[in-house]
Amino acid sequence: MLRIVLPQRAARSFQRRRTMEKIKMKTPLVEMDGDEMTRIIWQMIKDELLSPFIELNTEYYDLGLKHRNDTDDQVTVDAAEATKKYGVAVKCATITPNAARMPEYNLKEMWKSPNGTIRAILDGTVFRAPIIVKGIEPYVRTWKKPITIARHAYGDVYKNVEMKIPGPGKCELVYTGEDGTEMRETVHEYDGPGIAQGMHNLNASIESFARSCLNYGLDTKQDVWFATKDTISKKYDHTFKDIFQEIFEAEYAERYKEAGIEYFYTLIDDAVARVMRSEGGYIWACKNYDGDVMSDMVATAFGSLAMMTSVLVSPHGYYEYEAAHGTVQRHYYKHLAGEETSTNSVATIFAWTGALRKRGELDGSRELMTFADKLEAATLKTIEDGKMTRDLALLTTLPDPVVCTTEQFIREIRKTLEKSL
Ligand code: NAP
Ligand code: MG
Repeated sequence: MLRIVLPQRAARSFQRRRTMEKIKMKTPLVEMDGDEMTRIIWQMIKDELLSPFIELNTEYYDLGLKHRNDTDDQVTVDAAEATKKYGVAVKCATITPNAARMPEYNLKEMWKSPNGTIRAILDGTVFRAPIIVKGIEPYVRTWKKPITIARHAYGDVYKNVEMKIPGPGKCELVYTGEDGTEMRETVHEYDGPGIAQGMHNLNASIESFARSCLNYGLDTKQDVWFATKDTISKKYDHTFKDIFQEIFEAEYAERYKEAGIEYFYTLIDDAVARVMRSEGGYIWACKNYDGDVMSDMVATAFGSLAMMTSVLVSPHGYYEYEAAHGTVQRHYYKHLAGEETSTNSVATIFAWTGALRKRGELDGSRELMTFADKLEAATLKTIEDGKMTRDLALLTTLPDPVVCTTEQFIREIRKTLEKSL
């Protein structure tokens, strides 16, 4: 009789895989597929890292540009509405069409940015945090933990009106109430040419920004910092400061005390200095412009846009997880030409793990949450073991990194993951 003798370790791993049941999901996750290289990565992640271990329960929306065009962009609205129904979504990067995309995809219209459409329906704040891994060192020596930027995404200079003042004259700010009452302020009496700008914001938007930030602090057990220039802008910026303070005291102070975290307000210039000296590990809530500028600084100082998580948190408790980068068009064209690519899938993997963990949390599924933790750990360990995509290999302080193709990297993560399950 012929007997096959498996080495002990292989036998054990075979046994484990045979007896391991796939994790079940109670509530569907809203899955928004996307475009180009990230669409390729999306499928690989599902095939290699998710479906073998989870009975994936998703409600699928194809936000690929072709299908958005076929449905007159209705699919984007439907996907956002489904997120309201189920609470958690995961989104692949998508093309925001420009003139060049019109003939490329034979578009009926230059459809709006899907992120813009989804944000308008869900309302909320975008939180971006770097993914920290040994071998990719922050440029700032003291930074040990991630700094999460929470950017207010409404108003200020992004919705301003501007004037070029041609010559001597008076520029005024005038408000006319519905009942006809008037308020008037002189902006400046010009004695020569110059410029002027009018900006606005809404209390309702600032309130929902404050609640999103303060909820996210509780969710992730991190302090929340907020800063403006209220000493100079005594009405505009001061209103931001007051709204945050009032909402914190009325709705959050108790819970923050219980969680052992704090809300901290300071001036924006003081905040910048403190951030540079800090070791990280907090949420930095920023007004729209500050968030725009500071998130690029923080992302670059931590390493790379492909090593960044991004989640939209609505004040109504909906969550949409995505990668912070785009569809990596240049790599996609190489892929189409049959060339090897080395595209970093970490941010897209973390979009999935973020969404699965949140789904697990809301459904009381420990198993799903633990799986998300293990997949993240396996992803980081693969890099720390020296296997990574080209973008990271160029940055790493690890000796002799192995440069993987897009697919090899995901396969390596699977090997690491299987050892940990
Ligand atoms: P991008 O896709 O972020 O890529 C810009 C460059 O950054 C790439 O060419 C690549 O550099 C590097 N890069 C980004 N992600 C990478 C990754 N995962 N692995 C390795 N390298 C990475 O930005 P884009 O090329 O300006 O935009 C392409 C499309 O994405 C556009 O149609 C835009 O509308 C869309 N977009 C979507 C979102 C979203 O859905 N959230 C966000 C931004 C842009 P090298 O070429 O030097 O390797
Ligand atoms: Mg910007």
